[in-house]
Amino acid sequence: MITNFHISDVPPAVPSPINVTRSYLPPWEEYVQLLRSVWESHVLTNQGPCVLQLQQELQKFLDVPHLLYVTNGTVALQLALAAADIREGEVITTPFSYVATTSSILWERCTPVFVDIEPEHFTIDPARIESAITSRTCAIMAVHVFGYACNVEAIAEIGRKYGLPVIYDGAHAFGARYKGKSLLSYGDYSTCSFHATKLFHTVEGGAVITHDAATAEKLDLLRRFGHNGDEHISPGINAKQSELHAAMGLANLPHMSEILAARRHLCELYDILLGDVVQRPTPQPELESNCDYYPVLFRDEAQLLAAFAALRRQNICPRRYFYPSLNRLPYLPQMKACPISENIASRIACLPLFAGLGDETVKEIASILNKLNA
Ligand SMILES: *Cc1c(COP(=O)(O)O)cnc(C)c1O
Repeated sequence: MITNFHISDVPPAVPSPINVTRSYLPPWEEYVQLLRSVWESHVLTNQGPCVLQLQQELQKFLDVPHLLYVTNGTVALQLALAAADIREGEVITTPFSYVATTSSILWERCTPVFVDIEPEHFTIDPARIESAITSRTCAIMAVHVFGYACNVEAIAEIGRKYGLPVIYDGAHAFGARYKGKSLLSYGDYSTCSFHATKLFHTVEGGAVITHDAATAEKLDLLRRFGHNGDEHISPGINAKQSELHAAMGLANLPHMSEILAARRHLCELYDILLGDVVQRPTPQPELESNCDYYPVLFRDEAQLLAAFAALRRQNICPRRYFYPSLNRLPYLPQMKACPISENIASRIACLPLFAGLGDETVKEIASILNKLNA
């Protein structure tokens, strides 16, 4: 037990590094005001008033038909698989994503089948999906990686032709629009992550989005043990979210336009300042970007590592997003090669981007990177 602990024992603050992201926090008073109502009600979980309100507000903000708020974005993917009755077989997926896309498939006892990506926007290549379909294929799980839209029409067509449900991991798609529609409204299911590091967060959290009321009801049962009072309908899991998390979401959501404006400004500044030492993907013309990430491609891995070393000397820590290519996860059996994804993964990084990042840091990063070829 710690006794005689004094504030003066706290180690002196070292300047914290500039990371790829920093969690947005709403004004303290705004969160506390929401907490006060939770305290007064004594309702902490089980679809309380904050959860219900947040679901409604998110549905409206994201312009999607049915949204179910759950504990995180990984469980959201698992719930989508379960709602589509996928309990075994092969799920065609992308090797270029965060590991949770693949691990949700593995955790549901299915086999991920990796299909290489398109080099322009790092999203799964529909032409390769079709040739990977076998009698064991039971779903397609694609990712709008960095908020770039997958080729949603081609993927929908393949889904229809082979009777395969299409699940989009939309962890990076919050607020993005494509061809005049919410990017999260495509596919049979879309999921979101509201983890603390994401564009919009509720500390931990996520959502499943679907189109019809019957599927939404099924998902709702799945996330709360599969029963209605004493009536037990299907096996379920506990993916209910708490009032304290929902309150964070309610406090953050009204600030989204200022968060987006700050991010847009920083992206534009990077665009202006970064010379041709790094390559940038060109956004799709019909995409209204959410400025979720600022990915840059180095010439090769050696140049990436040199850039990281130079930035770290200034206490700036970009991240290798995403590395390794998921078909090379060390615990998976030997998988088919995905040369495009493996090549991109070896030389891509995301630069720091968050509301509150100063222009002078962006200038410093750009000047360090631009010196690399000199
Ligand atoms: C963050 C993330 C997830 C996982 O979300 P959690 O809420 O952390 O479980 C899944 N997929 C992608 C692409 C992500 O970036």
